[in-house]
Amino acid sequence: MSTFIELSYIISAVLFILGLKMLGNASTAVRGNSISAGGMLLAVVVTLLHRDIVSYQWIIAGILVGGGIGAIAAVRVSMTSMPEFVALFNGTGGLASLMVGWAAYYGMAGDYGDLEIPRGDVVVQVVATFLSVLIGGVTFTGSLIAYAKLSEKIDGKPVLFTGQQWLNGLVLLSVVASGVIFVINPDAPAAEIAFYVTMGLAFVFGVLATIPIGGADMPVVISLLNSYSGLAACAAGFVIGNTVLIVSGSLVGASGIVLTNIMCKAMNRSLAHVLFSGFGSAGGSTQSGGEQGEAKSLTAEDAYYVLEAAASVVIVPGYGMAVAQAQHVVRELAELLEKNGAEVKYAVHPVAGRMPGHMNVLLAEADVPYEQLVEMDDINPTMETVDVCIVIGANDVVNPGARDDESSVIYGMPIINVDLARSVFVLKRSMASGFAGVQNPLFFKENTRMLFGDAKATVTQLVNEFKGA
Ligand code: NDP
Repeated sequence: MSTFIELSYIISAVLFILGLKMLGNASTAVRGNSISAGGMLLAVVVTLLHRDIVSYQWIIAGILVGGGIGAIAAVRVSMTSMPEFVALFNGTGGLASLMVGWAAYYGMAGDYGDLEIPRGDVVVQVVATFLSVLIGGVTFTGSLIAYAKLSEKIDGKPVLFTGQQWLNGLVLLSVVASGVIFVINPDAPAAEIAFYVTMGLAFVFGVLATIPIGGADMPVVISLLNSYSGLAACAAGFVIGNTVLIVSGSLVGASGIVLTNIMCKAMNRSLAHVLFSGFGSAGGSTQSGGEQGEAKSLTAEDAYYVLEAAASVVIVPGYGMAVAQAQHVVRELAELLEKNGAEVKYAVHPVAGRMPGHMNVLLAEADVPYEQLVEMDDINPTMETVDVCIVIGANDVVNPGARDDESSVIYGMPIINVDLARSVFVLKRSMASGFAGVQNPLFFKENTRMLFGDAKATVTQLVNEFKGA
């Protein structure tokens, strides 16, 4: 039986890796997802067949309660709240790993000395228990803060105070100290205190590590927390000696780190800078660009005449497109432009929207051909030859202040250089700023025209103009 289980776990792990690899390409991504899901199904079924798991009653109760909450939440959540929903998922993953470590501690407390297993294995298990509680706790409260910031339940700005680095250092040192006490002799009474101190400090550290991050740097936090949740699961896998949990946790941990690196590159920042600098905090200007002048607006009808004559159009989607749910009508507009003889491309910024890949998901949902999506680095060199850039609910990712204004809090973040195109249409409801809270000098440029209103309504008007022509 145990050979069968281990063999099945290896097959599951292979399916996870194959699926992940296939996710790297749009044409194989859907199949890759199914293959990974198949791997997970196999792992779950095989684990249920395992002889010494808890009773089936508890498992069924868990599925009913957890599945019920998940199903209700998934049905109720609006598409625009998806990013904070994902943040909560990461948090619950961390909490689950913490609980595995906690339960394991009670399952084993007092038994370590009697266990007839080599001392080395005991140490591995004790260290894993400590790590699953520590990383799980940090992931849990860190994700709650990320959730609150993304859903604007708390201010998204970095929270900084005097002595913050010292406090962080002190917490870290205390974690190490309680870890040493716990690992050296987990059966000692002091170890139990150290265990709970670790748990408390992990919760505190999750909060402390996330509050100083704000402004446009949240994408990095989201992917980092995703990685932590994987590492916590991996540690939990060691605690209960479950190979497939170790493998899947490591895969999530590693891919989260890769994603974090991609997000850091997209923000042109090092991870250390994001985590410790309190980016977006006091000292920076929030009114990027000195002379703002007056923004000029345009009606959809006038915009149609310009678009009708355009030979090349670049669409730049942002968070506002997700809010307006305008992706389908945007695709319709793109098709009409193409029919009219224009070359149409979509320029996607890596941190546009509120979660990694947000725009890609929306455009794929609207069946936008993947070949029409162009990355920032590829579109920018061609920008001066573009007739019209249509910015749909994007703001920070097209803010020239990030490129030109050293006092801007988002200075250094690479942007899509839409201001270099011949004409720019910005579709948004007002002059309000984006996620980073900075004013956008793009709106006041000579070649920019604002099309005020809900993005879906404005694009629909443009579509009707084309259809009526
Ligand atoms: P922004 O948040 O900068 O701007 C979105 C704009 O959309 C707003 O200015 C808003 O203006 C407009 N908008 C909102 N609703 C509508 C609507 N119904 N119709 C038309 N416009 C609308 O978005 P970007 O995509 O440019 O930038 C993303 C930002 O979010 C970056 O700062 C990024 O760092 C951050 N972030 C990204 C994450 C990720 O993983 N991608 C995660 C967390 C944060 P108005 O109110 O006037 O309509």
